[in-house]
Amino acid sequence: MICTNCGTQFEDGNAFCPNCGTPAAQPAPAPAPAPAAAQPQYGYAPQP
Ligand SMILES: [Zn+2]
Repeated sequence: MICTNCGTQFEDGNAFCPNCGTPAAQPAPAPAPAPAAAQPQYGYAPQP
């Protein structure tokens, strides 16, 4: 990867830039799954 601070290219395994020590950019955490749609309530049937 490339350091976002100084632009030094270093191995992805490095947690910090070997040149300036800037922490390697971490991949954005997976977004939380979208909340499921409201579950139908069993036993309840809307009457027309
Ligand atoms: Zn750097």
